[in-house]
Amino acid sequence: MKSALFPGSFDPLTLGHYDIIKRGITLFDEIIVAIGVNSDKKYMFSLDERKKFIEEAFADEPKVKVRTYKGLTVDFCKEIGVDFILRGLRNPADFEFEKAIAHTNRSLSEIETVFLLTSSRTSYIASSIVRDVIRNNGDYTKLVPDSVRVK
Ligand code: ADP
Repeated sequence: MKSALFPGSFDPLTLGHYDIIKRGITLFDEIIVAIGVNSDKKYMFSLDERKKFIEEAFADEPKVKVRTYKGLTVDFCKEIGVDFILRGLRNPADFEFEKAIAHTNRSLSEIETVFLLTSSRTSYIASSIVRDVIRNNGDYTKLVPDSVRVK
């Protein structure tokens, strides 16, 4: 079975992530959405909330699993026997950043990173922008799947 890990903070899941995951399952048998836990980072949504948003968004999609992990992404891939990392590319800044990470991961392991270009409809969306809209009481619902709702 060909599985790919889609790692990130998902604070919160956006329509951009959703698009990459949906397209990822046409290429892989299974997409493991992996929420990285970084104790130094402050999040808007708790780990439980972030996990629930993703699980609910893909409740009808058995090819999508959600896991949380600490430490290096490549170590988690090895631990669960996954050979591919899936990442989304929005713009040249993403490309430069992702290139460095992918080369580093490749030097640490045999794991290949597979990139999908974002769809034009969602390429401008970032979790940081969604958080900003939420903080300022804007309508964030156009930027996220229905499962993401602020209480
Ligand atoms: P990180 O903590 O690594 O910044 P994110 O949750 O922001 O994690 O992103 C995880 C992955 O989703 C990355 O590969 C990122 O490029 C991708 N991504 C984020 N926003 C979008 C978007 N609007 N369209 C496509 N991919 C996206």
